[in-house]
Amino acid sequence: MARIGVIGSGIAGLTVAAELAASSHEISLFDKSRGPGGRCATRRSAFGAFDHGAPGFSAGTAAFRAQVATWRDAGWVSGANEANGIATGDASQHSQPSPIYGVPSMNALARQLAAALPAGVTLCADRQVTAIEPRAAGAGWQLRLSDGTTDTTSFDAVVVALPAEQAAVLLAPDAALADAMRHTRSDPCWTLMAAWSHPLPTALDVYRNSDSPGVLSLAMRDDARLGRTNVDGVASRWVLHATPQWTNEHLESPADSVIAELLRAFEGHLGAGLDAPLHAVAHRWRYAQVRVPRSEPCGWNAALRLGACGDAWHAPGDPDSTAPDGIERAWLSGRALAQQAHRTLSPG
Ligand SMILES: Cc1cc2nc3c(=O)[nH]c(=O)nc-3n(C[C@H](O)[C@H](O)[C@H](O)COP(=O)(O)OP(=O)(O)OC[C@H]3O[C@@H](n4cnc5c(N)ncnc54)[C@H](O)[C@@H]3O)c2cc1C
Repeated sequence: MARIGVIGSGIAGLTVAAELAASSHEISLFDKSRGPGGRCATRRSAFGAFDHGAPGFSAGTAAFRAQVATWRDAGWVSGANEANGIATGDASQHSQPSPIYGVPSMNALARQLAAALPAGVTLCADRQVTAIEPRAAGAGWQLRLSDGTTDTTSFDAVVVALPAEQAAVLLAPDAALADAMRHTRSDPCWTLMAAWSHPLPTALDVYRNSDSPGVLSLAMRDDARLGRTNVDGVASRWVLHATPQWTNEHLESPADSVIAELLRAFEGHLGAGLDAPLHAVAHRWRYAQVRVPRSEPCGWNAALRLGACGDAWHAPGDPDSTAPDGIERAWLSGRALAQQAHRTLSPG
């Protein structure tokens, strides 16, 4: 049995923690946020909740499909009923690239996964790790935290389950792993959460535009999904995503101008003017989706007992599966790292 520090409790961190704890290892799972989920994110407001990170996901590989089937049986996810979705853009817009979503929200799925973690996992919320350091006395790692303190637990191994750009900083003890992460790029995404007192002038629940460069890549009616709570006085809640190109060009723009431009673009797609929303808040994801993942399932240095997993990684597998999207890659990568680490930590 080994003591392992896992940094990041998104889908990858939750998966690696669950798998390693199931093999009897003892896990401390650190996250800088108050709760788990990372980019499986839901923002609460007086006007209702908004899934402002990943709106959903697909399951292409047999292994992930089997996992999603257990989540579906538990009532944690649903398939989208978005047959009346998808507006203009291009002809391919009638396909649904991310048809599965969390119930009653995307973040609820992550919270269910966290609640189901085996007893050997300790969740350490609100703890941002700033460095992974070798222990002065004896082998093992300790973690430096953003409040200036050090978690002096002696970890036999440490796993970094973060977006590539953030992982690169923490992986400094392994120059090759850090370099691999530094050269993996994520696209940013401005998102807008908006609520209206009346339905919008469209029968559609989803608009996708893969026709980059444009302003909007997605508009999704959040309140139309299974399990969403309705709020008195709010008739429709939408989440809009800007395209990576537009976000890059407006990365430092003030939120007010981003809100105005995304609403204007949405009006253009609807072909109708919109009343001022009751609520409109923009969120900038600096690292939203990985442009080109690495072609390995994860990074594991058996000599240092240091590893990395997450959506930055993907080994081509399953011949009948299309290239997996971010959440599926994060899950596959977390599982792969757990297997590699377990082989090192419990040989034979
Ligand atoms: C707007 C948007 C749209 C998306 N659309 C889709 C989609 O349609 N389909 C799909 O499959 N995927 C989509 N994704 C991508 C998907 O959300 C990610 O690929 C997936 O959630 C990544 O999981 P992860 O565990 O690798 O990382 P994350 O979810 O990013 O988890 C990392 C965790 O680490 C924590 N953390 C970061 N730094 C530190 C630190 N120093 N110390 C401690 N904790 C730290 C963070 O708080 C976070 O909880 C989208 C993402 C966004 C933002």
